[in-house]
Amino acid sequence: MLLTNHFASLPPVAAGGSQEGNNFWSKLCKLDCPPKIKQLLWRLSHNTLAVKHVLQRRGMDIDTRCYMCNRLEDGAHHLLKCKEARKVWQELNLERVKCKLTEASSARHMMEMILELESRAKLKVITLLWLWWSERNMQREEGHQRSATEVAYVAASLSDHFPTTEKTLSATAVVQRRWRKPPEGILKLNSDGAFFNQKSGGWGFVIRNDSGHVVLAGAGREDFIQDAFHAEILGVLAGVRAAANLGTSRLQVETDTTMVRDALETEYRLSTMGGIITEVKLLLYSEFSSFSICLSSSL
Ligand SMILES: [Zn+2]
Repeated sequence: MLLTNHFASLPPVAAGGSQEGNNFWSKLCKLDCPPKIKQLLWRLSHNTLAVKHVLQRRGMDIDTRCYMCNRLEDGAHHLLKCKEARKVWQELNLERVKCKLTEASSARHMMEMILELESRAKLKVITLLWLWWSERNMQREEGHQRSATEVAYVAASLSDHFPTTEKTLSATAVVQRRWRKPPEGILKLNSDGAFFNQKSGGWGFVIRNDSGHVVLAGAGREDFIQDAFHAEILGVLAGVRAAANLGTSRLQVETDTTMVRDALETEYRLSTMGGIITEVKLLLYSEFSSFSICLSSSL
């Protein structure tokens, strides 16, 4: 509640000054993310993000309703409280972090709390803030809005792939991955998904043994794919089914997106893909004596 008032009414915070202030800006500058995201965080911390309520305060005659849900749009609403934004936080399994952030006394305080998060959560949160702001502007300019699952998927993928010196930011950036052999006696499943347009997509999987030889591979096309995450998880399901049919008892599932790993490792009932994820988990627990989920590493 407090955050809404602060976003709307606090004057911009002056840069520099105290040691504490300098530490804050220094931490923000050192974040392992592209400059575009740092710029957004800087503006957010200064209360200068051009949300409608801020523009109205500056004297603009403007409709202050949120583009996404038609409620009053201030910074806290857009990033944390909007029902559409809340879905994305849920999809990323960041609901608890979001609740904590709503207790912040100002936008600057919220940023300080974010900078204290453990590194993986921190990167996911700042990417989500940046991406959600971009979604809001896309909705304003083009009237187009992606599903919460897709936004969450892109946010998770981007935050996975930030090298410290990244110069550009693209949701379709190709990241090369290094494949490692599974431990002796264990089969390893790698799967992938592709989302072509608003309806169709495809998936593929490869199962290899501990020598690196392909034991089985498969691919399929689907006419009703909701988003990229849906395609990815269908690939995992197909691969796990195939591995179960091979009669192997030990399986390693490797994915290149944290969202898939998190979905399989944690409680994911809130996700729109909950049914498929539950099916994958049931197969893993019922068909294999042991299994593990791991994240592939960048080259
Ligand atoms: Zn809204």
